[in-house]
Amino acid sequence: MTSVLVTGGAGFLGSHLCERLLAAGHRVLCLDNLSTGSRANIERLHGDFEFIEHDLINPIRLDAEKVYHLACPASPVHYQSNPVRTVKTNVLGTMNMLGLARRTGARILLASTSEVYGDPKVSPQSEDYLGNVNQLGPRACYDEGKRIAETLMMEYHREHGVDVRIARIFNTYGPRMAPDDGRVVSNFILAALRGEPLRLYGGGRQSRSFCYVDDLIGGLVSLMEYRGELRHQPFNLGNPHEISIRELAETILRLTGSSSPIVDGPAQPDDPGRRCPDITRARAELGFAPGTALEAGLQRTIDYFRACA
Ligand code: UDP
Repeated sequence: MTSVLVTGGAGFLGSHLCERLLAAGHRVLCLDNLSTGSRANIERLHGDFEFIEHDLINPIRLDAEKVYHLACPASPVHYQSNPVRTVKTNVLGTMNMLGLARRTGARILLASTSEVYGDPKVSPQSEDYLGNVNQLGPRACYDEGKRIAETLMMEYHREHGVDVRIARIFNTYGPRMAPDDGRVVSNFILAALRGEPLRLYGGGRQSRSFCYVDDLIGGLVSLMEYRGELRHQPFNLGNPHEISIRELAETILRLTGSSSPIVDGPAQPDDPGRRCPDITRARAELGFAPGTALEAGLQRTIDYFRACA
């Protein structure tokens, strides 16, 4: 039995990860300040599970053998609502967790993001693409926050020998997405179920590639356990099936049988025009194979939101 710390463990991805780790028989310590996570996400978890309400900006003394460091608001509406706090979470929170890993000898995995590629000029994005990020824009608190978090991981590895893993997570969806998250998948499903308009920000020609949550969690665990040559390098994790936001809206209307209209909404500043992961490295090294087709995953997510209504 390994003792595993999951920061952001009451969030969307964190709660699925805690569930997977408990099912594998690990002892799980979940840390969350509940700013975007919720107790409801973790109330049904059973096994050797402990929850501590704590904001990672403040140091905390804990022991663990493995640390999954996921804590940070990940949806633009949330990370932009208190941008300085988002930067602090990424800088101070990551330093605190790296300090813990250094002291205890724990292996630590950072949940980084496709946003480190900014508004990419190449597609698909592979791990060696250095990105196109506007450090002054409204997404910078998150994009640049995660970039410095990656830098900290690499420097704690080089300077202090900490055993680090870096996952660059692309858009992920599934049950337990927060309904008020502002994410396109949850917004569109809820609007479709309520008979309200689906709003395409900036025309809907921009693309994203959506990964079902169970596939993504499998990738995170594989990366944590991976011992190959590239283990300290970043790994893209996502589903390379790319679609436009307009196509996503049409698919959700069809799957829900909704007659909601699709309408134009305001363009969002610095909204990336394309996003698609090159997962060659994760496929080859981790055996990562995100097998859930978009329609199947959307159907499960629709069923979840229907049951919540
Ligand atoms: N989007 C949209 N309508 C919505 C919510 C989002 O058209 O109700 C667009 C948004 O502008 C972006 C894409 O959908 O181009 C994905 O947005 P999301 O916030 O889900 O993720 P991210 O921008 O971080 O990829």
